[in-house]
Parts: sequence; C-alpha cells; structure tokens
Amino acid sequence: MILFPFTAIVGQDKMKRALILNAISPQIGGVLIRGERGTAKSTAARALAALLPEIQVVQSCPYHCDPAAPETLCDECREHLARDGKLSSMTCLTQFVDLPVSATEDRVVGTLDIEQAIKKGERHFEPGVLAAANRGLLYVDEVNLLDDHVVDLLLDSAAMGVNVVEREGISFSHPARFILVGTMNPEEGELRPQLLDRFALCVEIKSIPEPAQRVEILRRRIAYEQNPAQFYRRWQPQERALSQRIGQAQRLLPQVAYDERDLTAIAELTSEMQVDGHRADIVILKAALAQAAFEGRQGIREVDILQAAELALPHRFKKKPFQETELQFERLEKRLELSRADVCIDSEVQALPEDVKKKPLTLTP
Ligand SMILES: [Zn+2]
Repeated sequence: MILFPFTAIVGQDKMKRALILNAISPQIGGVLIRGERGTAKSTAARALAALLPEIQVVQSCPYHCDPAAPETLCDECREHLARDGKLSSMTCLTQFVDLPVSATEDRVVGTLDIEQAIKKGERHFEPGVLAAANRGLLYVDEVNLLDDHVVDLLLDSAAMGVNVVEREGISFSHPARFILVGTMNPEEGELRPQLLDRFALCVEIKSIPEPAQRVEILRRRIAYEQNPAQFYRRWQPQERALSQRIGQAQRLLPQVAYDERDLTAIAELTSEMQVDGHRADIVILKAALAQAAFEGRQGIREVDILQAAELALPHRFKKKPFQETELQFERLEKRLELSRADVCIDSEVQALPEDVKKKPLTLTP
C-alpha cells in the first residue's frame, strides 16, 4: 500500500515538528498527540516511519541490532560477535509497530520461559512488541484507553532504551530504543496526570478552520485517492529531501553542544512559566539539541529553546485556572514569534511542489 506522504500533510506544523524531533533523537522520550478524530494523527505517524532513512541491522536478530554500535547489541549478537569476530548485516526500512489497545503486559515486554530455565538451564525468551519496535516507531493509538500498567512499561522503556523482563529471580534484557508516538481523543477520557507528564512532548491538534487550507486538504486527498502512486511520485522529491535532512541531523546530533547560558535560559523560562517539576527542563534541552541539528547547527539558539518549550510545556503547567494557563502560553508564543525571524523549519516541510501549486486538480484522472 502506498501511504499518504508526510510532506503532503497540510498545516499541523507543531505535530510534524514534534515527530521529526523524536525521529532525530528518540531519547527525547516520545510525543503525545491529542486531538479529535480525523485530524491526520495516524496518517502522520505512519508517513513519518515510511520516509525515515533505511537502517543497517544484524541479520535475523529479532531486535534489529545495529552492527555499527557494539555497545547497544543484544546478548545474542554480543555472543556472536565475540565468537565469529563479525556480524552479518542487512538493510531494512524503519519499522512501524502498531500497538493494539488490548495489548497485555506479556505481549508488550515478551515472555520468559521459566520452566525451560529451571529444567534445562536454558534461557528462552519470546520477544514482544518492544523487541519489534527497537530502532523503529512504536505507535500507540488511544493510549488513554490502554491499561495504565502497560502505558507505564512503555514509557519506562522509551526513557531507558532497554526492556528488562524479570520473572522469579531470572532476568533478561534487550535494547528497546524507539520513537514513541501516542495519540488520544480527550473526549474519550483523560490520561492519568502521572502518565501525561512522562510523555516528553505533547501537541494539541484541531481541525483547520481556514477555508483555503481546507480546500487544499480536500484537493490532495482526492488526488491521493484517485492515484496513490502518481500522488506519491509528485511528492517524492520533498519526501526524499526531508528523509536526508533527518539522516544528516541524526549524524550531527552528537556534535551539537550547549553551554551554561543555554541551561540558564531554559531554567529561567521554566521557572518564569511556573512549570511543574523538573522533567520539562531536560526535555526542552534534548528537543532544542535535536532542533539545532535539524537546522544544521552545532549550537543552540534561543529560538530552539522556545520552539522546544512550545512542545514540552502544554501538559506541564501547574494546575491553575484555564485562562491563566492560556495567558502564559500566549506569552511564550509571542516571544517565539520575535525570535523566530530567521528560522522556520516548517516553511520547508510545508513547501508545495511547483506542479501542485500551478496545476488545478481535476476529478477525472
Ligand atoms: Zn541483536
């Protein structure tokens, strides 16, 4: 099936930015997308996974270990490497793993066969969803309807980059670094505040009110439905460009530096905005680093910090009357507007291909 291209999604810039930043740096810790039905939440997550650069994996490893990163290998790959001196690798696409809302703990973390371990002294592990999601994108639709305990496990794993399974004194672990994307429709129930805060970024999305943009959404949807392959070809240059840019940012990220001033700027911002707890500060730093890498820079600017805050703060304001929170957020947006002058990642993500701009789309192929 040919998916609707990520770069062809109209508007929803914050959502697109939050997804891109997590793709550059999954250590940010995931994004929660809140919004009503039919707002392209799942389309965007699937489309992002589809455009991400291909990865090198160890052949037949259930965790898609990276042969170029020995420190992140699973136990089995580590043993193979020690025994044979090398690992056979292959290229594969970034996995998109969809977590069913009925998923149980065993299904998510995998199962350890205790009987085998006790009888034969063999460790036998049946990999779960977290194994399949390693180095991929884990999509959790309606995360608010999932069992709290399972959400807890997902968030733990996303934060630590490892899945640890313990049963009756026997323990097994494997790498589990993934881009976590959760979605929810607030009309169908809220997420517990303790869980909400552990999603690094949060974006609220709404239907687009402007008629011109709605027309563009309609146009693209029709063109896609009529001929998905042709529509994809039209957007391929944009898709490829964004994919390459994300790949470059991933490689640049370890070199992006920050200094005392950046930390002070973050701390002053969160203190001024009266943010609950300290998790927001680290999330803002990680997201700002990814943002700078996306811009091809090796240092953070104020605009990176403010743009990161825009995604890291909406779900972390102290419990206050709604209007006060709104006011605080408006102040943040104002400051962002002022410092945005020379940076706008969205202008590129948003750019239309020339032929789409010029050619009116007709209803007959
Ligand atoms: Zn492995």
